[in-house]
Amino acid sequence: TSFSQLSLSPALLKAVSEEGYTTPTPVQAKAIPPILEGRDMLAGAQTGTGKTAGFTLPILERLTRHEHHKGKPKLRVLILTPTRELAAQVAQSVVTYGKYLPFRSTVVFGGVGINPQIKALKAGVDILVATPGRLLDLHSQQCVDFSNIDTFVLDEADRMLDMGFVKDIRRIIALLPKKRQNLLFSATYSDEIKALCESILHNPAIVEV
Ligand code: AMP
Repeated sequence: TSFSQLSLSPALLKAVSEEGYTTPTPVQAKAIPPILEGRDMLAGAQTGTGKTAGFTLPILERLTRHEHHKGKPKLRVLILTPTRELAAQVAQSVVTYGKYLPFRSTVVFGGVGINPQIKALKAGVDILVATPGRLLDLHSQQCVDFSNIDTFVLDEADRMLDMGFVKDIRRIIALLPKKRQNLLFSATYSDEIKALCESILHNPAIVEV
């Protein structure tokens, strides 16, 4: 498979080629088509496999396919990660792959001042990358509107559970619109992950690499 066979728009292909990527990694080749179709997904992929582009590219593509309204963007995509380092990395990927697209994104995590994050959210974003605790904090302060979210990603779900985020994750999910696409990435598949998948995912495409 080549990137040009994956039905991605020229703006994304250009960004990908500028990163020096010539061929999709296995997780990208397997994950991109079902995500583009709008399916839920369970993907067993470790860091270093190219999983971030595997979900970021088709999410950006789907945003371009849906009607784009002028004016303040509405939050449509929520990506949760366990750590601030991962959140920052994923947010950077969104910026890198989306550099020729008109979408706005930001990242929020704990351990730093909340005010700049509030300001960024108030300005309006299409895509938000977040760690769970800070996201709930911002939500309780009415700084983030979940009502337009139609795409939800749980990245490194196994690490989230190891870090004790299960309650936060369940609280966040309960606040999201019911009709949405869900993508869950996890390097391991324990009973706890299985239970989480069963409660979140609907007829998921299953990708293993
Ligand atoms: P990830 O597993 O998402 O953390 O990505 C691991 C690394 O692989 C990152 O530094 C990416 O820039 C790089 N990468 C992702 N996709 C490709 C690709 N198709 N070809 C070459 N490198 C890639």
